[in-house]
Amino acid sequence: PPIVSFRSVTKEYGTGAGAVRALDDVTVDIRAGEFTAIMGPSGSGKSTFMNVAAGLDDVTRGEVLVTGQPVHRMTDQQRTLLRRDRVGFVFQAFNLVPTLSAAENIELPFELAGRTLDGETRRWIEHLSTVLGLRDRLGHHPAQLSGGQQQRVAIARALASRPAIVFADEPTGNLDTRTSREVLTLLRTACGEYGQTIAMVSHDPVAASYADRVLVIADGRIAADHNRLAPQDIS
Ligand code: ADP
Ligand code: ADP
Repeated sequence: PPIVSFRSVTKEYGTGAGAVRALDDVTVDIRAGEFTAIMGPSGSGKSTFMNVAAGLDDVTRGEVLVTGQPVHRMTDQQRTLLRRDRVGFVFQAFNLVPTLSAAENIELPFELAGRTLDGETRRWIEHLSTVLGLRDRLGHHPAQLSGGQQQRVAIARALASRPAIVFADEPTGNLDTRTSREVLTLLRTACGEYGQTIAMVSHDPVAASYADRVLVIADGRIAADHNRLAPQDIS
């Protein structure tokens, strides 16, 4: 089954004459193991799409299933639990806690969920830290890290609990070209080697070129849906 499934989803902000339709009858699936880039002009509905798919926001009409669970029928509290247990986030602004070390930031979701780190999870976090080149930075606080390192910590935090899906909102928006490529390559690796499902909102065509699939949103609708051919399909 798809990780995220939208069925005729309409999302309006406000009511009556002043209502803004941010998503207009959207039907689309995000499948397991896919790295999807969501592109489109400013104000087209990308953030709304992501917020609804991540269980952050309610819909006006239609159905949203995340890992088969009907988000459109959930209470705020149920959506909070869904996010905590199934969803990882990477934001443009990194959203690291400045008073915590890199390691503590990575482990924070477990602490917030009241989950202890078992041996297997510790080994996974160690592995992520190695792959992300963070091993000698784990004791540092965010202010002592470069932008790229902070973003890598945010990615490690999002991947640590092996969520069903990771949402990345302009994850390279604050990074220089070289660091952006590093971060995008890491997201690709997480997807290609570990089967991580990723949905990334980006304005940047280079960023989108790392994805398996590009969804273009315009005026609250899916205007285009491009799949990149897998290497074995090209001959
Ligand atoms: P994008 O992420 O592509 O820039 P958004 O999803 O943020 O687009 O916005 C889609 C439309 O919904 C825009 O017209 C925007 O002004 C409107 N919108 C977004 N959030 C709100 C909100 N909280 N209240 C009212 N209108 C909103
Ligand atoms: P590989 O070494 O297997 O090509 P990379 O991690 O370098 O893997 O790249 C992963 C994917 O990202 C590649 O399939 C490639 O299409 C894309 N990619 C790599 N570098 C760039 C780049 N500079 N600009 C756009 N896409 C790129």
